[in-house]
Amino acid sequence: MKFFEKILIANRGEIAIRVMRACRELDIDTVAIYSEVDKNALHVKYADEAFAVGEAHPSKSYLNMERIVDIAKKSGAEAIHPGYGFLAENYRFAKLCADEGVTFIGPKSKTIQAMGSKIGSKQMMKKAGVPVLPGTDDGIRDIDTAKKVAAEIGYPVIVKASAGGGGIGMQIVNDEAALEEAITGSMRIARSAFGDPTVFIEKYLVKPRHIEFQVLADEHGHAVHLFDRECSIQRRHQKLVEEAPSAIMTDELRARMSSAALKVAEVSDYTNAGSVEFLYSNGNFYFMEMNTRLQVEHTITEFITGIDLVKQQIAIAAGESLPFDQQDISIRGHAIECRINAEDPLNNFAADPGKIQRYRSPGGPGIRVDSGIHMGYMIPPNYDSMIAKLCAWDSTRPEVIMRMRRAISEYIILGIKTTLPLHYAIMNNPQFIEGNTHTHFLQEEHIVKT
Ligand code: ADP
Repeated sequence: MKFFEKILIANRGEIAIRVMRACRELDIDTVAIYSEVDKNALHVKYADEAFAVGEAHPSKSYLNMERIVDIAKKSGAEAIHPGYGFLAENYRFAKLCADEGVTFIGPKSKTIQAMGSKIGSKQMMKKAGVPVLPGTDDGIRDIDTAKKVAAEIGYPVIVKASAGGGGIGMQIVNDEAALEEAITGSMRIARSAFGDPTVFIEKYLVKPRHIEFQVLADEHGHAVHLFDRECSIQRRHQKLVEEAPSAIMTDELRARMSSAALKVAEVSDYTNAGSVEFLYSNGNFYFMEMNTRLQVEHTITEFITGIDLVKQQIAIAAGESLPFDQQDISIRGHAIECRINAEDPLNNFAADPGKIQRYRSPGGPGIRVDSGIHMGYMIPPNYDSMIAKLCAWDSTRPEVIMRMRRAISEYIILGIKTTLPLHYAIMNNPQFIEGNTHTHFLQEEHIVKT
């Protein structure tokens, strides 16, 4: 039995192709949408059908909800997969799909809305007994209350946008003198980036690790976790390298963190795939937020569990029960992902779009490359700079590091600057090899300046 006959993929680049690959293996037809600058993109060629959606600017194309739903209906697609970014965590889009009789492949609109508020979701988890970092319980209304709370929890603190994402609007504050300016600055950024100026304060952990758990929940009350991923190697709060499982994970810590992750899924009435993000420091972990979508780094979880997350998302959206229980899922080996961005690491990571003059991707045992680029491809300057994900799997962590080094050395991308050399430096860094990473690793190891 087919889950759907036809699915529209409301995205571009590598993730659009990733979803289409799952569809093809499930014998489901695919519909691509493309903006003006993407008409020759690989995701358009890969799909069974493709429709122009608008101008290059995302607001005119990949964020144009009404038009996308309209294309789905006209093309006969019964479901929409949003990928990540763009409309993936837009509860209004999920609701519009539901109202128009198109299945949204993701959680329910009200869950997306509830988890889209960092403040609201933190409060919900605090009530449910999931550990959270101390901070303001609500959005900051006046500076005196903010000062009082910050003094109570102790500096440094971090000011965050409740509606935030992509590391935008976060400011670290080391003393009271800098608090007011940070709050007004964050509010201004939050208002223009997310249309919601609400900001809050929480305790800032100086060198935490970012550890997240993948969960899958069906519409019949069954939920499982697919273990952990460590995403501590970041620049400006943005992930660059991820690995699964975390190098510091023990059975005891995993039991505690996974049961917290499942609690988060339970109290948010979660369905479909999602990731529960925690900060970990000195044996303690704290719920940070839940990402209500397929994540960039889902690939490494697929490597270590052998479970295709996109196929599971589609099956769940079609109303299927999960085909496995928790005890059926186990970890095999170790996987690493390197995000290849069209950026110049020697020029403060400035975006470097342009034409790919030469391209050859690595292969061989245990290597997976997800990308939307090819030789002669012109990277448009309008979208995210991530052009490929290089993933490696092997039986053990030391072996997968060696394999990733080998794959990086095989990867040829000429014509633009990329983050490949940075990844080579990370894979050869003694602290990384030891598993001693934290969210300031790249600065501390002098791999990046800021
Ligand atoms: P976004 O949704 O903008 O990506 P997150 O809340 O997921 O923001 O946080 C992104 C990163 O910011 C984390 O992985 C971590 O490196 C850093 N961060 C967030 N909150 C804290 C905190 N309280 N203490 C230390 N680092 C933090």
